[in-house]
Amino acid sequence: MPPTLKSLLAPAKLADYGYNRSYERGREYYQAGAVLRLAQRGDRLSAVVAGSRDYKASIRLSGSSLSFSCTCPADGFCKHLVATALAWNAGEAEALGDLDDIAAPTEGPRSRQKKGPDIRAYLMSLDRERLADMILNQAVDDSRLRDRLSVAALAAAPDGIDLAAFRQRIDRALEFPDFDYDNPYWDEEDPYEGYAEQLRPILDALESLLDQGQYASVAHLAEYSLAELNQRCLEMEYDFLEAEEMVDPLVSLHLRACRETGPNPEALAEWLFQLGFVDTASEFPGLPWERYEDLLGETGIFHFRRLLETEWRNLPAPPENGRGDRRSRQRLRAALLRFAENDNDVEAQAAIIKTDLSDQDAYLELARAYSSAQRYDEALKWAEKGWNDFDDARHGNSNLRDFLAEEYRRRDRVHDALTLYWNDFFNDMDLSTYKRLTREASRDQDIWPRWREKALESVREMIAESRKNPPKRTQYGFGSFGRQTPDNSLLVEILLWENKPAEAWDEAVSGGCDENLWLRLSGWRERSQPQECLPIWERRIERLTRHANQSDYAPAADSLAKLGELMEKIGERPKFIEKMKTIRASLKRRASFMRELNQRNLP
Ligand SMILES: [Zn+2]
Repeated sequence: MPPTLKSLLAPAKLADYGYNRSYERGREYYQAGAVLRLAQRGDRLSAVVAGSRDYKASIRLSGSSLSFSCTCPADGFCKHLVATALAWNAGEAEALGDLDDIAAPTEGPRSRQKKGPDIRAYLMSLDRERLADMILNQAVDDSRLRDRLSVAALAAAPDGIDLAAFRQRIDRALEFPDFDYDNPYWDEEDPYEGYAEQLRPILDALESLLDQGQYASVAHLAEYSLAELNQRCLEMEYDFLEAEEMVDPLVSLHLRACRETGPNPEALAEWLFQLGFVDTASEFPGLPWERYEDLLGETGIFHFRRLLETEWRNLPAPPENGRGDRRSRQRLRAALLRFAENDNDVEAQAAIIKTDLSDQDAYLELARAYSSAQRYDEALKWAEKGWNDFDDARHGNSNLRDFLAEEYRRRDRVHDALTLYWNDFFNDMDLSTYKRLTREASRDQDIWPRWREKALESVREMIAESRKNPPKRTQYGFGSFGRQTPDNSLLVEILLWENKPAEAWDEAVSGGCDENLWLRLSGWRERSQPQECLPIWERRIERLTRHANQSDYAPAADSLAKLGELMEKIGERPKFIEKMKTIRASLKRRASFMRELNQRNLP
């Protein structure tokens, strides 16, 4: 079943949407009655939520997910949206339109439902003259409504569409929103968020023109819109994600129109080439020219490809670093590679890739191209070159490493393959590099035990070494070991992952490990040796109650419950009661901590 407003706004889910306590704060707002004027029409909700000032919160179902907005400065699903959703769940929305809209969201006291007057029935009873006046009066104050109506009116003109007037509307729809730089609520994160929505009335109007069979006009206007959007992109200095959302529906409309008009293939190729590869702003996402292949036909594709190839030949050498016109180069390269790939022409692919070998990805691409042409020796040569020419082994491209390892295995050079993973592990010892090494070495029988011994030996040496020279605490953490004090954590982690809890326990006892690992060890040990696990929980309780932060109360109380359970098992209930007395006495002023203790029936 597709998600509904009811399933997406279920109270249990709301806590996941919010963050930074917006759920708790939202619930407080709701309970304090801050949600005013909650209205619903179909899958759209809107409310005014009173806070330090009034904010307008809107939630709607779009497709299978929620879209939402709030006029407050917070990001994401803020407390006002949480409060709005809770009020809706309690059936507090006033329905605009059909009363079915407000089918009780939860089984609750029906008496709280506000049916409200039936506005729809009232509107249906008015004559058209009166309705038109009402809407026009509204449009005077609401420029977005005015734009919508103008575009719809242009598209519905009985004596054919006025293309010049419609193009003006497109220009307006693509104008950037005005920013009020003095407004403290101005969202600096992405001032263009919602820009794509401005195009909605245009898309709707083009859709209705298609329905009327005005294909040539739609093709022209879609082309115009795409060109204008590209112009707007020229003004952008950074990634302009909204543009991607806008190109796709415009291209879909353009394609539908072109299928009816049957454009000249060479002219179409010319257009795709100019807008997609030549005049393209670097923030313009380009045109998905592959979707036009059937329309281009053989003639169009031949022409298109020739244009691309000429442009490619005339391109200056790739920029050493920095962006330059890297993007247009990338676009051209991707299109040409696709053609060469379809031709199974590996030399053509290689020639294109070799024009710029400034990163490891290019070598991987080259190696893959040769490999899929079954020219494995060249594949190996390029993969090795890519791997060795970039000597920063730590940040090597992991796909290139995997590719190279497979090429070694193809030649039964298992040791060479494993050495790649060994170096990764040795340079960066942690559970993930160890897991990868294990996985690779276990592919061949009998090899792993020897490699494993060597690996664990290296871990021990690394630990001994860092005990001698403990890593200095830096602003960013604790050096390459990544832990506060050098202990046996990594060994314990590895052994637990290998499902060897007894060995892991011994390593923890002999060299220490971090608290989370101790807790995992306790989970395994406490059944047979509860006595030995007491110190784990005592240390944790000591740590959690030392500063007595609010957020530590619940885990501290849980740990005390656990400790009580273990002590009871070994007949030390009286001692536990004594301990609880001390704890309660020393923290008696922390009322909510006492509440946590009582909730768990602790003595
Ligand atoms: Zn808000």
